Amino acid sequence: MNVTRFAPSPTGYIHLGNVRSAIYPYLIAKQGKDGRFILRIEDTDQSRYVEGATDLILETLTWLGLDWNEGVKKGGEHGPYYQSERRDIYHAYARKLIRAGRAYADPTPPAEIDKYRKADAAKKIPFLYRNHRPASADTPTTTDDTAWQPGIPLRFKSEPKSVKWHDEVMGDLETGPEVMDDIILIKKDGLPTYNFAHIVDDYEMRVTHIVRGVEYLSSMPNYLAIYEALGIEHPKFVSLPHVLATQGNKKLSKRDGAKSVIDYKDEGVLKEAMLNYLACLGWNDGTEQEIYTKEELIEKFQISRIQSSGARFDEVKLLWQNGQWIRKIFDENGVDELYDRTVSRDEASLKSHEMNPERDSLINFWPASAADYDETYQKQVLSIIYDRLKTLSDLKNYTTYFFEDPRIDLAFLQNNKFIKKLSETEQRDLLSAVIEKLQDETDWSAAHLQDTLNDLLTQTNRKPAELFSLIRIALSYADFSPALHLTMNVLGKDRTLARLNATRSAIVNDL
Ligand code: GLU
Repeated sequence: MNVTRFAPSPTGYIHLGNVRSAIYPYLIAKQGKDGRFILRIEDTDQSRYVEGATDLILETLTWLGLDWNEGVKKGGEHGPYYQSERRDIYHAYARKLIRAGRAYADPTPPAEIDKYRKADAAKKIPFLYRNHRPASADTPTTTDDTAWQPGIPLRFKSEPKSVKWHDEVMGDLETGPEVMDDIILIKKDGLPTYNFAHIVDDYEMRVTHIVRGVEYLSSMPNYLAIYEALGIEHPKFVSLPHVLATQGNKKLSKRDGAKSVIDYKDEGVLKEAMLNYLACLGWNDGTEQEIYTKEELIEKFQISRIQSSGARFDEVKLLWQNGQWIRKIFDENGVDELYDRTVSRDEASLKSHEMNPERDSLINFWPASAADYDETYQKQVLSIIYDRLKTLSDLKNYTTYFFEDPRIDLAFLQNNKFIKKLSETEQRDLLSAVIEKLQDETDWSAAHLQDTLNDLLTQTNRKPAELFSLIRIALSYADFSPALHLTMNVLGKDRTLARLNATRSAIVNDL
């Protein structure tokens, strides 16, 4: 049975660089029987607390479908799941360490500590607090609980030695005694440090695998010493290498513009694509497969195949994968399912929109003018455009002319590389021939329109690119539109003819 947790601090949004710390433990927990995936909020550093961050974390996990079995908002037998509410639990463990002579109250004022630091820097020796341990740390401790009271920081009393441990991704690791130190367990405000709290919580919550960023590796010797001093077993360690920025050798970080996972949701990336892309960032199953459903990921994910070197973030690949997913959903589940994604009417989205009205995409991805048309028509448009979308927000750019007449722009028309070759008189005559033929059509089905367009080619003796570009632009004034017979079919006969006539008149006026 695997028990894992995602333990974010509510210090801001979840960016792309750290969301694998949620995805991988989720996948691990889902493997095997009765696994549990816990969501714990590590909010003991109140100076870094950001209002609304927890909601954003919950929204991100919910969107990606990383449903937790236990934790914040869900409850469970190991709660509470906000660390700030677990103070008594940490204090009980802290007292255990005091009684064992492995923790001491440290009255040293911060200014004094600063002096030690500067003095060591001047001597060019590494700053280790244990070299400055106050004399009081060595007074024999009693089982008396008055030995330490919150208000004074409590430090671990380290016993420096070499340690060896195994990391599921990084392999066998070893460090010398020089890295062990008297780290703070409980701060002056009575709240624990991350360093101490996570050890207590993971133990109390029966966590079997700690999955977190590689940045915690350097603290491992101290963590191992605390596990040992508490006499508890540690979980397996799964350290995830950094996600690297697209360029250079820097890790992707908020400072360097790493976007929030939720930003991609707002930009029309599907949750399936996001999960797929991120899970495969630094992990593969040894095959060439690139598209995975959540169920396939659960089945195929293996810790042993997580890469130990950094994985590079590539937005182009993410968007490519999103395009694949848009097609997959349409092809497998039909237009209704894909349509639902373009109008995010789920409660969570509406609520988030209410809190954050500028996130319009939470309501829908269509151009505003689409609101004048019914769902059936919007679905017809979607059915002919979906295979060109990279994100759902492309709908705004690609479909406006289905909902409103485009502005006639003769310069745009005549700059087209195929239309350029025709004189304005030729353009006019060609449009006249098209209009005349289409006027008589009684069958406006896509299949019949295809035949009609072919007849027009023969009749006018023009190259397809010339004739079709002319019609296409007169109908859309867009850089791209779906196959002509499909576009005409969806626009309908009246609008098609009206637009062709409008362009023809504009050319005539220009002559
Ligand atoms: N609260 C830590 C963070 O947000 C979590 C690290 C861990 O998973 O243990 O980085």
